Amino acid sequence: MNASPSKGLVVRQQAGFYTVDVGGKEITCKLRGKFKQLRANEDLVAIGDWVLFSLLSDESGVIEEILPRQNAFFRLAPSARGDYKQILIANIDQIFFVFSCAEPEPSMRMLDRFLVIAEKQKIPPVIVANKVDLIGEEQAHRLFSVYEDLGYPLLLTSAHEKINIDPLREYLIGRTSAFSGPSGVGKSSLLNRVQPDLGAQIGRLKASSGKGRHTTVVRQLIPLKDGGYVADMPGLRSLSLWDTEPEELDGYFPEMRDLVADCQYNNCSHIMEPGCAIKEAVQKGKIDPARYDSYIRLRQGDDL
Ligand code: GDP
Ligand code: ZN
Repeated sequence: MNASPSKGLVVRQQAGFYTVDVGGKEITCKLRGKFKQLRANEDLVAIGDWVLFSLLSDESGVIEEILPRQNAFFRLAPSARGDYKQILIANIDQIFFVFSCAEPEPSMRMLDRFLVIAEKQKIPPVIVANKVDLIGEEQAHRLFSVYEDLGYPLLLTSAHEKINIDPLREYLIGRTSAFSGPSGVGKSSLLNRVQPDLGAQIGRLKASSGKGRHTTVVRQLIPLKDGGYVADMPGLRSLSLWDTEPEELDGYFPEMRDLVADCQYNNCSHIMEPGCAIKEAVQKGKIDPARYDSYIRLRQGDDL
């Protein structure tokens, strides 16, 4: 047995096994038993985690320590023994929210919820509006202009017509990225344009992770040949705002957070109080009414 533990990156997770990458070599690891008793109701390791592990004589490994993370995406999964806190992915540099310009029409409410989650986790989002071939660039800019005005990076792409694939690749190289968005918007098609087979690899993961009771969930960081990793985050639909207090929500809307100091009441919910700077900004057209509406719905606990 190796005297001092080695450091590696968890690139794959399936049924209690973790594949740890050490300079291109993959070691299958289990978690040291002591961890499980420690916190039974939450995941302790996820893809994207850096870990220390010791090597056993049969070339498998045991994870001894999980190094501090920059960030992580959690979700609460109901289980027989109460809510289970799942980690979908750790240490990501950016998250792509992929929608299509049409077929299906983009859901701005879903986008608003995603953006709040990214803001809360302090993970830079990139909005991708695919299938720009269906409506043209001008109309696509109009459709997403609110988000461009807020300063969120927006890529108008077409997997079919190979529009803006190079800029997308530039964003991906050398970073760890999560890809999320509704199905049918062209995520797999786009990733295949970035690197042949990339979308197919993610598709295979989807096929094997299914929803059936007896299938095991596979999560994986897929390496890019020029550096960096991409992970599919199929769980984002159910990635709710369970750990967000209503009072903190305005801080995750960039167009609101600097204005709230001007509200008459310092605990203003921006819904019905007098002297509300946010409502005034909506009336003056400085805050987009649809964004404000998303805020209200989230504040009232609606699942957008
Ligand atoms: P995913 O579920 O998000 O991975 O989406 P897919 O990559 O499977 O694509 C869903 C459908 O949209 C397929 O029929 C694709 O051919 C189509 N599609 C993907 N990208 C484009 C595009 O840029 N333009 C158009 N018009 N259709 C696209
Ligand atoms: Zn207010």
